[in-house]
Amino acid sequence: MEHLDTLRRMGLFDARVPRYTSYPPATAFTPAQGADFQVSCLQALDPATPVSVYIHIPFCERLCWFCACRTQGTTTLKPVAHYLDVLKDELELLRATLPAGVTMGQMHWGGGTPTILPPDMIRALAQAVKDVIPPAPDFSFSVEIDPTLVDDAKIAALAEMGMTRASIGIQDFASDVQEAIGRKQSYAQTRACVDSLRAAGITSLNADLVYGLPFQTREKLANTIAKVRALDPDRIALFGYAHVPNFSKRQKLIPDASLPGEEDRYHLARQAAAAFTGSGYEAIGIDHFAKPADSLAIAARTGHLRRNFQGYTDDTCPTLIGIGASSISQFAQGYVQNASATAAYIERVAAHQLSGHRGYAMTAADRLRATAINMLMCDFEIDLEVLDQHPDAAQLIPIHDAVARDFAGMVVKVGSRLRITPEGRPLTRIIAQRYDGFAGIAAQYSQAS
Ligand code: SF4
Repeated sequence: MEHLDTLRRMGLFDARVPRYTSYPPATAFTPAQGADFQVSCLQALDPATPVSVYIHIPFCERLCWFCACRTQGTTTLKPVAHYLDVLKDELELLRATLPAGVTMGQMHWGGGTPTILPPDMIRALAQAVKDVIPPAPDFSFSVEIDPTLVDDAKIAALAEMGMTRASIGIQDFASDVQEAIGRKQSYAQTRACVDSLRAAGITSLNADLVYGLPFQTREKLANTIAKVRALDPDRIALFGYAHVPNFSKRQKLIPDASLPGEEDRYHLARQAAAAFTGSGYEAIGIDHFAKPADSLAIAARTGHLRRNFQGYTDDTCPTLIGIGASSISQFAQGYVQNASATAAYIERVAAHQLSGHRGYAMTAADRLRATAINMLMCDFEIDLEVLDQHPDAAQLIPIHDAVARDFAGMVVKVGSRLRITPEGRPLTRIIAQRYDGFAGIAAQYSQAS
């Protein structure tokens, strides 16, 4: 309890902080860096270095109440088919903009629900991307899978198009928790999905879980964890539920009173982490777990772990091209987000324009802060010697000093490293925020615990 009181004093339960899947966070993007910036970044790409590609599918058959993803509900495939045509048009715009010879090292399909696509659309979309940005030799392809909206034919189509990793949405198996978030999904359905993926040759599986959901208790979470362990995924992502009903209207269906209290949330997260590390998974960053032989665990051990919009990654491609409504591209020069509303995105592409509508041009000072934040989020320490190679490194010295002072006991100086201790790790995002030059801007972030 004493430790929890210390964490509370340091802001664990009160702070609202970015998840730092990018720096600057998307809340700092402005319309000044839109389609023109996007075109100049794309044209400047070096064809010798493969890019990563993200495709956003903003449709779901069900709209889970806890979810704040950019997506819309549909019971027919008509809007999905139309959207697919627009994605193909966007790909043609990219073909006309990219330098010749750019290849794709990784592709990720997220949403929404990519597995809303029937097999013929899966093949058509994957082929359309490959026609414009051909796969590099070690190409990998990951897809977010909804076990309630997938079948053997869809999995076969994804495997045929080169899927190497599947990410399965689970959240929690307790039936009253599922009911309270509008998302029914049985263990049998999930088991069948995992078996079908493995039968199709997909050897790398990730499971997404959420703690802090309505009516979740330690007992129910223990039950969910036992079932997840039986599924034997290679990676597990354990996200804290961010209750922001003012931002996400669906979350208004979840009464505040049904949510675990702040201390319960803390214990749920610790309980899950202990269960997974106790059964052979390695803790990766603030919220992931991976088997020791998994590439994410290897990246973490060798200092190559990175953050991107999907969370932690071992992706080494320096450029991410986001395709589809609301997708964010990451370039050496900065970030560009496509029009967020699907209708606005479709309108832009119909007018034969790339749909970047806001973004951010990185400065040298931003890169320095981004490096420090990435080190903290991935390695729990800042290597000051590496940072010192940056010409503006001295700008951060007052922040290092303040962090060491304000988080005494949770942050220690070890040689040339400023290190977050294991006890201080729940504070990682709060500590990272000290390096955030945009920390003062008004934004609706999730709680730190
Ligand atoms: S959790 Fe998945 S299926 Fe549910 S609304 Fe969000 S994206 Fe759609």
